[in-house]
Amino acid sequence: LIRFDRVVKRFGDNTVLDHLDFTVAAGERVTLIGPSGSGKTTILRLLMTLEQVTDGVIWIGGEPLSHMRKGGRLVRAGERHQRQVRKQIGMVFQQFNLFPNMTVRQNITEGPVHSLGVPKAEANRRAEELLEMVDLSDKIDAHPTQLSGGQQQRVAIARALAMSPKILLLDEVTSALDPELVTGVLDVLRTIAETTDITMLCVTHEMQFARDVSHRVLMFDGGRIVEEGPPEKIFGDPTEDRTKAFLHAVL
Ligand code: ATP
Repeated sequence: LIRFDRVVKRFGDNTVLDHLDFTVAAGERVTLIGPSGSGKTTILRLLMTLEQVTDGVIWIGGEPLSHMRKGGRLVRAGERHQRQVRKQIGMVFQQFNLFPNMTVRQNITEGPVHSLGVPKAEANRRAEELLEMVDLSDKIDAHPTQLSGGQQQRVAIARALAMSPKILLLDEVTSALDPELVTGVLDVLRTIAETTDITMLCVTHEMQFARDVSHRVLMFDGGRIVEEGPPEKIFGDPTEDRTKAFLHAVL
């Protein structure tokens, strides 16, 4: 479903991703780990087209995201094409980024109604279902400022799912939360993992969560994958010294 094909990303002369190749299958849940600055967030931002590749091609469901086909060749894609392909992807950020002037209900229905053309009644029904799933049915008419960080993050997850994405990107979604609020958010993500077949790409420092929900862990360093495998292998019996050193430092 996702394929990075020799993707290079540079910021000035800082090479953040260095000819990166990897694929994620439909329904797979993959966790990205690695030291700060190793390029994990950049990968998610490229998928959301918040950044552009310097070189190489990103494919989503067989369609190039960064490029378009033209006369048998691939050329750089414009914004419209990227927006179209990106519709399959939802993202939840470390900072919840809810629309502060809208209620919880409006936050969730805004995208489906205005970007996807979903009828308002249907979007409302779906918002109610999703709020039940994240255990916030009673907050439907609240404003974000009236909610705790954990509750806001659960609304952000509901908002991302309301767009019916095939792929959910999670970027350190519990890092900004007080410790007692982390469990509620991780529980919601566990439920999503157990009850849907959505493809998940997740950057997290919650190693137990990564162990529980992911099919595969990719360990990054210096813009490359230094090791990958099932969580039992990476966390239990890593091969590479850099993985051992990283896990030793975070666990
Ligand atoms: P962390 O765990 O700290 O979030 P990360 O692995 O997610 O780290 P990235 O955020 O992807 O790492 O950043 C990788 C490198 O890219 C860093 O050296 C960072 O300074 C650089 N970088 C990221 N975004 C930009 C930008 N917009 N302009 C310049 N440099 C950037």
